[in-house]
Amino acid sequence: MRIDILTIFPEMFEGPLTCSLLAKAREKKILDINCSDIRSFTKDKHNTVDDRPFGGGPGMVMKPEPIYSALKSLGVKKKNSLYKKPLKKPYVIYMSPQGQKLDTQKVKKLSKYEHLVLLCGHYEGIDERVMSWVDEEISIGDYVLTGGEIPAMVLIDSVARMLPDVVQDKSSVEQDSFYDGILDYPHYTRPAKFKNMKVPDVLLSGNHAEIEKWRKQQSYERTKIRRPDLLKK
Ligand code: SAM
Repeated sequence: MRIDILTIFPEMFEGPLTCSLLAKAREKKILDINCSDIRSFTKDKHNTVDDRPFGGGPGMVMKPEPIYSALKSLGVKKKNSLYKKPLKKPYVIYMSPQGQKLDTQKVKKLSKYEHLVLLCGHYEGIDERVMSWVDEEISIGDYVLTGGEIPAMVLIDSVARMLPDVVQDKSSVEQDSFYDGILDYPHYTRPAKFKNMKVPDVLLSGNHAEIEKWRKQQSYERTKIRRPDLLKK
């Protein structure tokens, strides 16, 4: 999968993209991630990416021209134009608190695309006319961050886990919370006794059928207590 990130702070991605599973996925060429600096698509000597809002009011707005040029450089076409988008064309996502919330269903869907473009906003957001080139707005939750970079990292990390061979043991992803609509069961490791707290006997029994039954029960009980809304679904 290829992911292009359009941002005015490419340096923010250096840490997350060069550590842990994401770094390995890039090494293994499962993930090809490119960061483009929106400023490099400006034409004025100050590399201006923002301007005052029409109609007045606080804050600044990201200008449409550099973003348009950046999208064009990636082969993005206008939405709803006569041009019919083939599946292989990039799917453009604007990280926005006003978008649909990212959840496991959406992450699974996004992991099927060959090419994603993630647009990171700042200030009051992006000139609304750019939305003509955006396929979907996605939010990571009902709160407002200073920019779209952290939401983009969240999206990339969650999508990457769904790609084959990123997490070595596929069943570990499938047992995670939300994958099948409920929460994960509790986990324990050595030592069997820690600060006077014992690991549940069943996990030391070696009886795999009983262990599986216990884990299923725990998943269900946890979900019932912590996230009853998931069971209703
Ligand atoms: N004025 C905007 C509003 O109220 O909807 C908020 C702008 S926010 C300060 C700047 C940028 O951060 C947004 O353009 C978006 O890219 C990103 N952002 C902030 N919160 C986000 C969230 N919850 N999910 C995704 N992106 C977010």
